[in-house]
Amino acid sequence: MSVATSEQQVVDGVPKQLLIGGEWRDGTGGETLSVEDPATGESLCEVADGTPDDAVAALAAAADAQDEWAAHPPRERGEILRRAFEAITERTDELALLMTLEMGKTIKESKAEIAYASEFFRWFAEEAVRITGRYGVAPNGAGRLLTMKQPVGPCVLITPWNFPMAMGTRKIGPAIAAGCTMVMKPAKQTPLSMLALAEILAEAGLPGGVLNVVTSSSSGSVMGPLIEDQRARKLSFTGSTEVGRKLMEQASSQVLKVSMELGGNAPFIVFDDADVDDAVEGALIAKMRNIGEACTAANRFHVAGGVADEFAGKMAERLGAMKVGRGTEDGVDVGPLIDDDQRGKVADLVDDAVGKGAKALVGGRSVDGAGYFYEPTVLGDVPDDANLLREEIFGPVAPVATFGSEDEAVAAANDTEYGLVAYLYTSDFKRALRVCERLETGMVGLNQGMVSNPAAPFGGVKQSGFGREGGSEGIEEYLETKYVAVNL
Ligand code: NAP
Repeated sequence: MSVATSEQQVVDGVPKQLLIGGEWRDGTGGETLSVEDPATGESLCEVADGTPDDAVAALAAAADAQDEWAAHPPRERGEILRRAFEAITERTDELALLMTLEMGKTIKESKAEIAYASEFFRWFAEEAVRITGRYGVAPNGAGRLLTMKQPVGPCVLITPWNFPMAMGTRKIGPAIAAGCTMVMKPAKQTPLSMLALAEILAEAGLPGGVLNVVTSSSSGSVMGPLIEDQRARKLSFTGSTEVGRKLMEQASSQVLKVSMELGGNAPFIVFDDADVDDAVEGALIAKMRNIGEACTAANRFHVAGGVADEFAGKMAERLGAMKVGRGTEDGVDVGPLIDDDQRGKVADLVDDAVGKGAKALVGGRSVDGAGYFYEPTVLGDVPDDANLLREEIFGPVAPVATFGSEDEAVAAANDTEYGLVAYLYTSDFKRALRVCERLETGMVGLNQGMVSNPAAPFGGVKQSGFGREGGSEGIEEYLETKYVAVNL
């Protein structure tokens, strides 16, 4: 990929075809799918619209490459990741522009995602050479117990549109490090970042067939046959709980090893002993990062009665001062939502809450004109039966509800089928640990509004899924444990 600056050059510089067995090719159906700029609603370009036959060819290429890739020295697998990390870092400006064009977030946020995404490659480059087994003496002293870690085999990877590169690198990084081949299907709204990433990995020396990329407008019919194909050994999915549930059913036919990173409904709890200004700073990150379109987004604010008005007032002031606009423009804080459907869902949730008695302290409406913009919104006095306390909002809307006691706060936080992350602000150390233990989530942000870190295990409990991405746990998802009973 050559260095490019203008929007059109950046879009033109990305491959638009499917990557199968190390070759870029058109879909067998000859169709293309349009990629839109959500800030204008206009088409940026067309990419290949893969068919089920293309997907099966991609899995065949992955299966063919598996044995050779598993035998590749771990040091070399790590060095490919390390070179890709460096290339992504060098090309941050153009990759950030590309991401902003297809997804909408500001350039600053795209750069932050690219740094986060590339760090998974650096982390797993370091993990590739640390895959070990165990050797032990059997308790009766007679035999030896040997365990070895081996790559799972060809993986089917499916990612969403909200973090077009990071959701990919945190699957591709450990898969490469572990010695697995793969078929990756990015979301149809944001395929360009993944196609650019695949080209970078090829340039970094990744052999053909290890990573295959299929873009498609009909994800169900294209991915179904792969999930049910016995050559696939692993499914790793990031997306909605609704789709995850369907994929788990399909994966049961081959008893695939499965990882699921699903939806969230994160509570953000502020106790009356917290520093309210710190809590507001954390809340701005937890709520407004990625335009509120993050599985980790604070979905509902549970604030102690004594400080709720102060907290809500300060949030309204800060959100009201944010500039909404195209993410490529200077000074813009909040980009558009991904499409009109998503904006419609956000608007319906706000209308429902206001209809039930919530007060819009700031915002509360769609922005007229081109693109899918929605005003940053703070809702006060949100009643318990408002739908947005239960459903994932995925937009720049902060509902504030109040609580009396610690028990009430914990009960409200856990009153959801989701369990990805919770945020907690308090200056009382004992309370902090007590509440962390009681929260039914896979992650907790303690006096901080962001938990994502490539060196930490990211993942949820309850209907937010299972499996962990990142940390030393992340590579385990791509390894099998084999036990050898040794007779001496
Ligand atoms: P989605 O509708 O579930 O789609 C996710 C991916 O699955 C896309 O690539 C989509 O393809 C594909 N897909 C949809 N139906 C499919 C099917 N029947 N078979 C195979 N693939 C299928 O989710 P989204 O709207 O893109 O993303 C938002 C959701 O992701 C939110 O719920 C968010 O919380 C969750 N998320 C979770 C995490 C986490 O780590 N827990 C991280 C980020 C996002 P097409 O779009 O091309 O149809």
